[in-house]
Amino acid sequence: MKVLVINTGSSSIKFQCFDMDTEKVLLKGLVERIGEEVGKTKYSYGDKEFTVNDKVPNHKVGLEFIAKLLVDPKDGIIKDKSEITAVGHRTVHGGEKFHSSSLITHDVLDAIKEMVPIAPLHNPANITGIEVAQEIFPNAHHIAVFDTAFHQTMPDYAYRYAIPKDYYTRLHVRRYGFHGTSHLYVAKEVAKFLSIPFDKFNAITIHAGNGSSMAAIKGGMSIDTTMGMTPLEGLIMGTRSGDIDPAIPHYIVGRDKSNIDMVNVILNKQSGLKGICGSNDMREIQERYFEKNDPDAKLALEMYSYRIKKYIGAYCAALGFVDAIIFTAGVGENSSVIRQMSCAGLENLGIIFDNAQNERRTSSILEISKKESKIKVMVAPTNEELEIARQSVEVLRSGL
Ligand code: AMP
Repeated sequence: MKVLVINTGSSSIKFQCFDMDTEKVLLKGLVERIGEEVGKTKYSYGDKEFTVNDKVPNHKVGLEFIAKLLVDPKDGIIKDKSEITAVGHRTVHGGEKFHSSSLITHDVLDAIKEMVPIAPLHNPANITGIEVAQEIFPNAHHIAVFDTAFHQTMPDYAYRYAIPKDYYTRLHVRRYGFHGTSHLYVAKEVAKFLSIPFDKFNAITIHAGNGSSMAAIKGGMSIDTTMGMTPLEGLIMGTRSGDIDPAIPHYIVGRDKSNIDMVNVILNKQSGLKGICGSNDMREIQERYFEKNDPDAKLALEMYSYRIKKYIGAYCAALGFVDAIIFTAGVGENSSVIRQMSCAGLENLGIIFDNAQNERRTSSILEISKKESKIKVMVAPTNEELEIARQSVEVLRSGL
């Protein structure tokens, strides 16, 4: 069965086509700069890589190009578009309505549209992607895989904010959490690696990338996560502040004669690592610290890892018993420094970190705690696209 996974942003389409009998990636790529004067599309069939810079005026043209690549007479992987059985759509916000992936019907699409006010930056692009893909692949089943769905098992005392109830009932203000596909994927992979049945598996997952979040997973279900109603809450990220005193925007608006929209942009785009040291690239920050002893870079590393450490402590308390702590995504998979700083001094919690093992480089699952560590510390590569493809197949197999 061939499954096409697409992740549509406001000016981009990320795509991967899988043969789900083998889970092999047949074609993958990224269409960028949609709507700009010059577009940029990178794609690869296995080791064969290509780049084109043709203008991509809109998402429909972008997706038509992807469809052409699939059936390309020379490198193509199928003869006809109708061989794509399912299109899995990464969909950011499923609100309270979606607890799992769903076949996209008229009602489901309407429900995703209803969620736009709580996800104005993400859902509109996802909706465009769905509508265009339905036109271009009319014979395929279209499935929405939600970033929020995995966290719908959070109990009310974890997802509610301590503000007047009316905001929850009338405006749906509550914590939803994101990165659900990634947290679920790495947790399932590590449970399998450790031979622990997933419904008995307790873990703390740390998705540390440009966007970052952690999840507390009990018996295979999310019981808490660091992102909230929007992806701004929780960990320090590339350009997002994460947790701050909620009174700060009011103070800044008053002092700077600024406005709330500008403060929102600052907290989302100019804060986090970038706000602390001017860069949101962890590689560059590490280099600045190790090679020049740059004090801002040092502070960025310390603040970033301290926030992770605080949540490790919090989630150990929330879970009671923890089988594993799992690092994933760009920083989590590649930065031994951040992993070491985040786990240092946690022996009393049962975490005995292995510094030598932490320096090993591999693209598969790696244990970086010592044998005697009660809680295993792991590095696991995430693969959100494969998880979306797997869930799309599951939805089809469960009889639609
Ligand atoms: P992601 O959003 O998952 O792609 O992660 C992006 C982040 O991962 C950026 O801050 C990168 O600097 C960081 N990153 C990628 N590779 C490395 C590496 N080898 N060492 C440290 N950080 C890395």
